[in-house]
This record gives sequence, structure tokens and C-alpha cells, in this order.
Amino acid sequence: TDFKSDKQPTWCPGCGDFGTMNGMMKALAETGNDPDNTFVVAGIGCSGKIGTYMHSYAIHGVHGRALPVGAGVKMANPDLEVMVAGGDGDGYSIGAGHFVHAVRRNVDMSYVVMDNRIYGLTKGQASPTSREDFETSTTPEGPQQPPVNPLALALASGATFIAQSFSSDALRHQEIVQKAIEHDGFGFVNVFSPCVTFNDVDTYDYFRDSLVDLQETDYDPTDREAAKEKVLDADKEYMGVLYQDEESQSYEQTHGLDSDMSDIDHDGAPEDAMDLVREFY
Ligand code: SF4
Repeated sequence: TDFKSDKQPTWCPGCGDFGTMNGMMKALAETGNDPDNTFVVAGIGCSGKIGTYMHSYAIHGVHGRALPVGAGVKMANPDLEVMVAGGDGDGYSIGAGHFVHAVRRNVDMSYVVMDNRIYGLTKGQASPTSREDFETSTTPEGPQQPPVNPLALALASGATFIAQSFSSDALRHQEIVQKAIEHDGFGFVNVFSPCVTFNDVDTYDYFRDSLVDLQETDYDPTDREAAKEKVLDADKEYMGVLYQDEESQSYEQTHGLDSDMSDIDHDGAPEDAMDLVREFY
């Protein structure tokens, strides 16, 4: 697609991040975006390399801080399509505080988390989403604490769009990311993106065998009570849109920041910018 850069990824052959990125690029193209209006903000980790491999504007946030950078980009230029990407370690450990506040702020951008349930770049330590009994070099008897539940955390924080996908299911993954992009507000997608080098438990085969696609059921993602049950269901792993508030209004809409700047009399001077900020707040 137009979004593929000429840089060759250095991810391990077979890494789930290839499929995750392909779906993101196709979803951006399908929703009518092009590299000139797209800004990818990446975190740190294997997943954080993604900005280099995509042909768009891109920046690395500090570890765990990609979300506030993304919100800042969107606030400064609401016309840009902003997509933030990162991993489970980046987003749900050091970045967990930012995640909660980005969710409740509901800025109109998408957040794609490549969840492989391990720290890959630093060679296989337990991450916030690793299983309680997952043996690693730093946790030889497993972390011995329950994993973070990103979907439940998002719902409890007031999310207006929560989805989960699988990097290997190319079409469904693309469709789900498209929905997140099209959502008016913060579109959160947790993507199972297997680490073939350091995680021999949460594998392609495991997700293929265990994922339940909500699209093949009569599930209604607009029903918040039903979403509560789904995100807290410890016995199953779901794929699809788990919750969407169809009445969602983004932060920009509720704060008057989505105005067409060309209608406003200003020439970009700092004093004019300050006047605009005072007017909006
Ligand atoms: Fe992918 Fe794991 Fe290799 Fe990192 S270490 S590139 S997550 S397979």
C-alpha cells in the first residue's frame, strides 16, 4: 500500500507485528487517508519500530508516553489522522497511567497495542499481560500475580470504543482497526500479535484455537452491561468490537477544537495562538 516505507523491518521472521502493521496500513488506506495526513506515534519496544516501517509522518514517544504525544499532535492539528502504536509492556506497565487518562479524555485518534504478553526487545521478561504461571528468565516460577486486563481497564476508565483483534486474521484485523479509525473519539484495539521468539505459550495456534469472533454471535457491542460481562470473562478470549458508544463525542467536539482553522482570523503568531487557546478553554 501507499503506507509501506522502503525500510525493511528487523522484526524476527514470523513475528505477529508484520500482520498487525499490514492491517493498520490497509485500514488507513481504506478509510481514505494518505501518508500526507497521517501521523503515527510509536512507543518503545519491538512494536515501537513501526513508525520507521510506515510511510507517514511518525515520531517515537518516550517509553510509555506515546499517548500524550499523540494527543498533543491531534490538538495541534485536528485535521491529521493520528494513530498511536505500542506494545503491552509499553502501554500497560510504564504507560498505564497515560492509558487511563487517554481513554477518558476521548481524543479522536486510534491506539493499536501489539499484545504479545512478553517483553520481546529486551529478550523475554514477563510483561503486564503475561500469564500468572508464565516462566521467564526473570520469573522462573511465573510472575505469580494476575495479568492486567486491558479491556476491563479501558471499560472502567470510560472508553467509548474497545476492540480486540488477531494479527494473523488479516481481514478481520483490518476491519476492526478501520472501525477504530472511524470512531468519533479514542479507538482502542488490543491486538494479539505473537512473539515467536520468546513466548511459546501465547502462540498463533493458541489464538487460532481459542479466539471467539463476536461477529459470529448475536453480540451487541453497544450494550455496556453485556460488554462488562465479556471483558471480565476469564474463560474465553474474544475478537471483535467489545464496546462502542455510538453517541461518542470526541474531546475536540466537546471542546470546540474541531473548528475549521481557515475560518478563524489568525496568522500563526504566538499571541494569536494564545488568544485561540483562551477562547477554547
Ligand atoms: Fe517480534 Fe518477539 Fe522478535 Fe520482538 S522478539 S521482533 S516481538 S518475535
